[in-house]
Amino acid sequence: MHPTLADDLARLPELLQSARDFAARELAGVDERPVVHTGKAPDHDPLPADGTGAEGALARFAERWAPGFSGSAGPRYLGFVTGGATPASVTGDWLTSAYDQNVSGAAGSWATALERETVGWLSELFGLGEAHSGAFVTGATVSNTVGLAVAREWLGERLGVDVSRDGAVALGPVDVLSGSPHSSITKALSVLGIGRDRLRQVPVLAGNREAVDVARLDAALAGLGGRPAIVVANAGTVNTVDFDDLRAIAALKERHDFWLHVDAAFGGFAALSPAYAHLVDGLDAADSVCVDLHKWLNVPYDAAVQFTRRRDLQTRVFHNSSPYLGLPTGDPDFLHLTPENSRRLRALPAWFSLLAYGRAGHREIVERNVALAHRLGEGIAALPALRLSAPVRLNVVCFTLSENPTQERVAALAEAVAASGEAFLTPTVYDGTPALRAAFSNWRTSGADTDRVLAMLASLPL
Ligand SMILES: *Cc1c(COP(=O)(O)O)cnc(C)c1O
Repeated sequence: MHPTLADDLARLPELLQSARDFAARELAGVDERPVVHTGKAPDHDPLPADGTGAEGALARFAERWAPGFSGSAGPRYLGFVTGGATPASVTGDWLTSAYDQNVSGAAGSWATALERETVGWLSELFGLGEAHSGAFVTGATVSNTVGLAVAREWLGERLGVDVSRDGAVALGPVDVLSGSPHSSITKALSVLGIGRDRLRQVPVLAGNREAVDVARLDAALAGLGGRPAIVVANAGTVNTVDFDDLRAIAALKERHDFWLHVDAAFGGFAALSPAYAHLVDGLDAADSVCVDLHKWLNVPYDAAVQFTRRRDLQTRVFHNSSPYLGLPTGDPDFLHLTPENSRRLRALPAWFSLLAYGRAGHREIVERNVALAHRLGEGIAALPALRLSAPVRLNVVCFTLSENPTQERVAALAEAVAASGEAFLTPTVYDGTPALRAAFSNWRTSGADTDRVLAMLASLPL
């Protein structure tokens, strides 16, 4: 063994202690450090010929890189939809690295069974029944891609072709219908050989809504002349957190032949609160479901879960048979179900957080985040220079300048917010007008944080 490596092995407990101390210091300061850094990153160092040992690497990281990392784990990073990492999930994540399990299959470890237990808990949390099976993937983009890959295979079944053998080309042009799909849907369609341009956007409801008009969806499906299609329903749009009527869409199956995929990346967490659960009523009727976990479950990147009712078709798409990996059986190993072959034990951070805080603890995060979004929304509505782009429906505040909200002026506002160090918000375009989004999904965010963001907005020369 290289002497530096041997030395690190001998000092492993001290090393872990140093990492613990460093992480604890960084996290203790996450409320107060600038939320984002806009300065230039350091120039690249040459590859070291001789290493520094892990203590040396930690010192170098602390000096060169740590000062420029964002406070995305903290309470006022409200850009995109960015969860933090609960204390229990960080604990689980550290142990995931320490154990370094490969959860491709069940051989020789109980880690796979732990992933199955965790998927079962999540299924229950989101109100899915026995018919849905699931697996961990890296994020909602991959979860959506897996769901749509199973949908593609289902189309083959309906049309009498085997897509996994003959390719997507065997299907001919595919129809994908959705009201306000996330951009990852078109990305998935490109990856899957269906094609980005096969997405048909169905009109949404009138009156400042992003939810699909189900009557128009009905008509669009009728126009396909009986050809099976894919419908992507959206449970929580990124701009205004609007929800499609999942029950009404599922009921269209009585008249039309389609696969129903639901992108519930963060909106799925509405199921945790009796006050909001009606928003995802009907989720169980979906053929495939995407839920992100690094957003509102507040586990570290990168984690999401995908569910489907057709594990047989999923295995047809993703199986990876070889003499050394074995053939998929009645309860296929995860390597036959997901894009990855070797897989990190992503389930462990989620398992820790669900065990540590339970349904009630995670419900509290969701309800507090929603209450804070409403609080910020009310504050913004009272500022003359700003106006809400849409009512606050759940955990996102979408707002813009009252006067002349051009792309340039809204971008300048986003930059001024970032430069304040007080918060991070990301720009969007809503209903043709540039706007900003403040998305609440971090477990740390408090009323005081929300008031701080509002005070900062009020202090800007707008
Ligand atoms: C965030 C998000 C995605 C993509 O999620 P990643 O985890 O970044 O891949 C997809 N759909 C919706 C609705 C989202 O909010």
